[in-house]
Amino acid sequence: MQEVQNVELFINNKFVPASTKETFELSSPYTGEVVAKVAEASVDDVNTAVLAAQASFPAWSAMSPLERGRPLKKLGEKILAETQTLAGLEALSMGRPVGGYFDATYASVHFNYFGEAGYAQGHTSLNTPGFLNMSLKQPFGVVGVIIPWNAPLVFFSKKIAPAVAAGNCVVLKSSEKAPMTSWKVAQWIEECGFPPGVINVICGHGQTSGNAMSMHMKIRVISFTGSTATGRAIQIASAKSNLKKVVFELGGKGPAIVFDDADIDAAVAATEFSINYNSGQTCMANSRIYVQESIKKKFTEAFKRASSCRSLGDPSDPKVNHGPQADGAQYNTVLKYIELGKKSGSLVLDGTNEEAKHIVHPVVFTDQPEDAQIMKEEVFGPVVVINTFTEEQDVIDKANDTEYGLYAALFTKDLERAMRVSKKLESGMVGVNCASPTGSWDLPFGGYKGSGTGRESLLESMDHFLENKSIYFKVSGIGG
Ligand code: NAD
Repeated sequence: MQEVQNVELFINNKFVPASTKETFELSSPYTGEVVAKVAEASVDDVNTAVLAAQASFPAWSAMSPLERGRPLKKLGEKILAETQTLAGLEALSMGRPVGGYFDATYASVHFNYFGEAGYAQGHTSLNTPGFLNMSLKQPFGVVGVIIPWNAPLVFFSKKIAPAVAAGNCVVLKSSEKAPMTSWKVAQWIEECGFPPGVINVICGHGQTSGNAMSMHMKIRVISFTGSTATGRAIQIASAKSNLKKVVFELGGKGPAIVFDDADIDAAVAATEFSINYNSGQTCMANSRIYVQESIKKKFTEAFKRASSCRSLGDPSDPKVNHGPQADGAQYNTVLKYIELGKKSGSLVLDGTNEEAKHIVHPVVFTDQPEDAQIMKEEVFGPVVVINTFTEEQDVIDKANDTEYGLYAALFTKDLERAMRVSKKLESGMVGVNCASPTGSWDLPFGGYKGSGTGRESLLESMDHFLENKSIYFKVSGIGG
């Protein structure tokens, strides 16, 4: 029997229950056991957390980047040292396999990097005669962070680290489906040396606490990762309240294009991993694969073989690389799309489902009409469509015919074609002879169109959390 954890709100460096004392239960999708009682943050709790952040802002923002960096780096080291604990919590609460858990390393890199990179700089100008002008980059004050459940610690770190390094104080709301690692990391915040109120971590459902954050008059920036529908709701709330800045990383419906000159085995390996990693619960997964007509049979057969080799089962077993969907609701959503896909196209790999454990075995469709629901909407499960094309321009048009634009992949040995097609794809990221999640620390991460606004990376993220101020400084006798 698993010990049921009491997941509370972390405000002002103290764990507290929700002001209403309301809680909800979190169950393991694999065993069905209750693993935690989670505090449901109320509107009052959001206000309390924002007040704590506001109160700590003057002192925190007045520190030097060197001083602010020390607790960041300590937290980075602590997270790395606790990789196994963190991986175990995600496996338990949302079924993420411990084998291949990279989130703690990712988080540690972010806290370590921003622990040293908090030196914001504006510029100076002598281009106006009689003036020595300057621009300053300054923190906003209170930043709101709202994160999803599929890789919680990744989003926790890639948003909190640059925001606090820049001198802001943060209120983060974790996902109601995966609050465990945010709560665990909050337990180390004080011992790493963060003053009270700099990082506040609340949990609860989006409609209450998430909406209260989006509407809050004292939160000046919301950095959000999640679905496009929720991004839209947050943008509306921002417009209705204080026009807070919004930075969005949203959903995807990634295409992968395989030309007939490609290394087919390599393309199969990369695209199969992309869609089935984390049981298909990845924003940048290639859920639409377009193969050139002449290689359809060879590619599809190899893809089915690769998909059938996954090691399914208990996410806490390091040998397992395909666990359950995050919860019953996500499992049912995936099944709904499989039924829709059966009506609109051909099912060529029929994943058996294990209802009690919420596991969906990989599913492959072919010959789907381009306007089928399964081609247009994000499934967020191990479900792929393999369609065909003949001409280059035809496949570019198909790949771009979506409201999303996060990550596209293409496979070819023709380098000129690779450059030409990469340029034409409406996508924030393009993999050439590789597929998502392949990425790079120092290149912008984010999407075109409905997949987001703004870009995140080690080099760019801090700018989201800094205001620009121009100072026109008249100086007598300075000349032109
Ligand atoms: P979601 O939008 O349902 O929830 C995300 C967060 O928003 C949760 O914390 C939730 O409580 C909160 N929320 C819900 N309604 C809200 C509201 N009205 N106001 C404020 N907050 C609200 O998304 P999810 O199901 O947790 O995550 C899956 C989605 O996230 C997918 O669409 C996926 O593509 C996307 N995603 C995008 C990226 C990226 O980097 N682009 C990365 C991971 C996930």
